[in-house]
Amino acid sequence: MVEELKNHINGEWVSSSTDQYVDVINPATTKMIGKTPMSTTKEVEEAIQTAKESFWEWRSTPPVERARYLFKLQNLIEENYDRLSEAVVEENGKNIKSARAEVQRALENVEVAAGIPSLVQGYNSEDIARGIDEKAIKQPMGVFTCIVPFNFPAMIPFWFVPYAIATGNTYIIKPSEKVPYTAQILMELIEEAGIPEGVVNLVHGGKEVSTTLLESDDIEGVSFVGSTPVAKKVYTKAAMEGKRAQCQGGACNFITVMPDANLEAAKSNIFSSFFACAGQRCLAGQNLVAVGDETYDQLKEMVVEQVPNIKVGYGLDEGVEMGPLITAKAKESILSRIDEAIDQGAKVLVDGRDIEVEGYEDGHFIGPVVLTGDIHDLDIVHEEIFGPVMNLIKVDTFEEARDLINSNNYGNAANIYTQSGKWARKFAYEVEGGNIGINIGVPAPVPHFPFSGMKDSFFGDLHAQGRDVIDFYTEKKIVIERYL
Ligand code: NAD
Repeated sequence: MVEELKNHINGEWVSSSTDQYVDVINPATTKMIGKTPMSTTKEVEEAIQTAKESFWEWRSTPPVERARYLFKLQNLIEENYDRLSEAVVEENGKNIKSARAEVQRALENVEVAAGIPSLVQGYNSEDIARGIDEKAIKQPMGVFTCIVPFNFPAMIPFWFVPYAIATGNTYIIKPSEKVPYTAQILMELIEEAGIPEGVVNLVHGGKEVSTTLLESDDIEGVSFVGSTPVAKKVYTKAAMEGKRAQCQGGACNFITVMPDANLEAAKSNIFSSFFACAGQRCLAGQNLVAVGDETYDQLKEMVVEQVPNIKVGYGLDEGVEMGPLITAKAKESILSRIDEAIDQGAKVLVDGRDIEVEGYEDGHFIGPVVLTGDIHDLDIVHEEIFGPVMNLIKVDTFEEARDLINSNNYGNAANIYTQSGKWARKFAYEVEGGNIGINIGVPAPVPHFPFSGMKDSFFGDLHAQGRDVIDFYTEKKIVIERYL
């Protein structure tokens, strides 16, 4: 891996002139693997300018031709599958299986976006009055940008980039400063696919780079994914600047288990939801809600028996199921929130706080932690933890579970395990969550569906992926025509 990351502006890899860097640390080995430049305002402005200048040529390239570049990109991602997956593990820490799954999802977004000739079609009516026809067409708007988080360095930028360019816009990617390498490889592949210079640009940095992008008159809209406080700020700022914004925030997800659930079939699915990626997924379970005494007792037994066996380690090592937290700071913050919950009365069922991973003693590891007791109102249940923590909660009825979920400020995912169609339907109908899983541990929408989210988990109206993202990246124009 290279030492110092470069920006990609107007088809060229360029070093930033900044003297400010963020260290990129492999969270398992704690080795420094590079330095992310906090690019200067001038550099961001250059990227915006080049994207703006490239727009007219690109927007007048027929969609069928734009799609051909995406087919090339698809092949290149397939050829570089291992390289991309390994880069994800090295900078983010998740295990190789999860990394491959995320690269797969990035790839699928390219595949779906390649259907742009049909996806971008408008509609028309003949004879809206005598001899007059009307049509709605979808047109690209100009320069868009995405500001993305650390937890899916390959997948999340690709919720946006393939669709933005397929619809004829030009683009600036701002990766997370913590995980810049995967984006760098993806940018190399975009270049290799022959996508014309200036159509996609990459600018590294943090908050200041985001601010320059958001304040530019030449940026039409922003796709943001990250924590809720930042999502809210970006949404507000974008609105003030008259831009489109789709801002996905944090999450605090509940998995409900009904007495009729098939626990044997569900258990690995449930555990993986909580602990794969060390809980650093916006669709990860945080709270396991058992309906009824018997369900609670069964889950408790299952958890105590099996969760300590989850293999924690370096994601490139064989058999590893769970990696480290992204930073030492994240680890400390999660540990202190667990301690706080214990002080407030939470009982510890599984305690991975002092885990030592052989060969990686300095890594940012916390083993799986399971808390239970009278914890329904504690912060550990209601605030986003983003770590390998499961809160096992007992309720007496479906309604109690539903009310607990709906009392939470977030609304990203909610899942139910049941064999009853009645409970499943009622859950999907009444629960406030954007992505509902019925006997599914991580209800991640495939690319031809929008990645939903509601309440404090999403600010905006049109989501990532699916038909939503095509609408987000296009302006609807109405043409009413009569030929005299
Ligand atoms: P973060 O909010 O710290 O950073 C996200 C991005 O915003 C980064 O690129 C960062 O450089 C930039 N940024 C930071 N502060 C900023 C500011 N004040 N103004 C503008 N930009 C700023 O998030 P993170 O820690 O990288 O990611 C984890 C969070 O992302 C979690 O809360 C998780 O739930 C959330 N997430 C949500 C979804 C979803 O679909 N809802 C998906 C993945 C992750």
